[in-house]
Amino acid sequence: MKEILHIATECYPAAKAGGLGDVVGALPIYLPKHGINAQVVIPKYKNKWFAAQKWKTVYEDTLSLGTENIVFKVQKLQGGTINFPFYCIDIPGKFDRASVYLDVDGTGFKDEPARNISFQRSVLQWLSAAKIKFDGLHCHDHMTGLIPFFIKHCPAYKKLKNTPTFFTIHNGAYRGGFAWNEIIPILPEFEVAYSGLLDWDDHVNSLATAIKCAWAVNTVSPSYMKELMRDAGSLTPLYEQEKKKCQGILNGVDTALWNPATDPFLDGHLKGKKWAEFKKHHKTTLLKKYGLKSRRPLLGFIGRLATQKGADLLMTSLEMSINKGQKFSAIILGSGDKAIEDQLLALAKKYPDQIAVIVAYDEALARAIYAATDFLIMPSRFEPCGLNQLFAMRYGSIPIVSAVGGLLDTVPDIKKKGNGLVIAKLNTKEISSTVERAVQLFNNKKEFNALREKIVGLDYSWNKSAEIYAKLYHSF
Ligand code: ADP
Repeated sequence: MKEILHIATECYPAAKAGGLGDVVGALPIYLPKHGINAQVVIPKYKNKWFAAQKWKTVYEDTLSLGTENIVFKVQKLQGGTINFPFYCIDIPGKFDRASVYLDVDGTGFKDEPARNISFQRSVLQWLSAAKIKFDGLHCHDHMTGLIPFFIKHCPAYKKLKNTPTFFTIHNGAYRGGFAWNEIIPILPEFEVAYSGLLDWDDHVNSLATAIKCAWAVNTVSPSYMKELMRDAGSLTPLYEQEKKKCQGILNGVDTALWNPATDPFLDGHLKGKKWAEFKKHHKTTLLKKYGLKSRRPLLGFIGRLATQKGADLLMTSLEMSINKGQKFSAIILGSGDKAIEDQLLALAKKYPDQIAVIVAYDEALARAIYAATDFLIMPSRFEPCGLNQLFAMRYGSIPIVSAVGGLLDTVPDIKKKGNGLVIAKLNTKEISSTVERAVQLFNNKKEFNALREKIVGLDYSWNKSAEIYAKLYHSF
């Protein structure tokens, strides 16, 4: 068995802000049967989950971060709440907060550089001193993107120098770009001759550094990698330069966790293949709870209220469709951009029996929405993989998607014998006319039921992708 350590800032159920948490919490479960023993380390947050677990401190050390001296602890989870060896790092003053990334005002924590650097340095200090030896370090997104550089070029971690590093890009738009003068005081000592590896556009760019220094790089869908090669803003030439070690590996679904027959978040389960009963139960409950009109298709949206997710386009499109007399109800769950939140809430106020908007991050409600809706809409401007469309299909909700990234790889249009409805061109008019197509499809019961039957039988589990990751680990 090869030992791989996943280093990330999220892992479901410990801490999740989006798809990264889903992936880090699921992939390790599917690797052992391919000869990989995967372990995970994330920062210790101050939330209910961490407080409820039993921990054993396995390492304690001091980290000097600029003028600060921080005493950190590496703790190993005791008991079986997570199905793989799981560690957290308690870094007082940096991660003992309830939220993963966001401050109370909804914006990112201002001390992000110190948080990212303190976590990465603590991990490497621990690994350099510990007896346990890993055959590979797998870093996720820019928050852990400096690790491949640190182990190559920092004398303090020279013991790890020859350890292969893997880097997964869950979202290439976030780069961890910091001003040199802000970050220099908190970086570990490194070989100055290699400082160019840290630099992109005159900043320390954690994502660019990872792409340059990791042994292998992947995005979470093949199409997203192609898109980044074509246009990743100022990073486009870098992807081109490093393309030999880059690939796209599609995310999967943890089918044990996302199972309509057993999901503990749901108050009613799928029995056998009685999909109509299952969907009706959840749809009726949700329509009643939010006072929405029945006997119409129910559309759902779940996600960060950000321009990436097209949440801004959605509100205009839905209003356009309502004005055209389209008969549907919609439920929107999300949080994020304050302006989008307010506009969506205003829309719900204007059409209270057609549109419900819940500004929150609510795992149980998200699952109820996947179970209740006839369609799940994702008008994303870009989508590295997108897991929502996979969860939706598993829970019998037909995806309506834009033609980008992982959505393109997983949801071909029904016109091409596919699994959902594709918004041909991303603008409000096209979104609105795709909603119209959805309403028509809903009213054509034979076609609608056949499509539902098809999507619930598709296999988007981790099995295939876990094998690809395992091959990658074995190749070094
Ligand atoms: P992201 O770009 O945010 O990582 P993904 O599609 O990869 O998007 O993953 C989204 C994950 O986050 C899914 O598990 C989805 O159900 C969950 N999610 C997003 N927003 C919310 C919310 N407001 N409440 C509950 N779950 C949410």
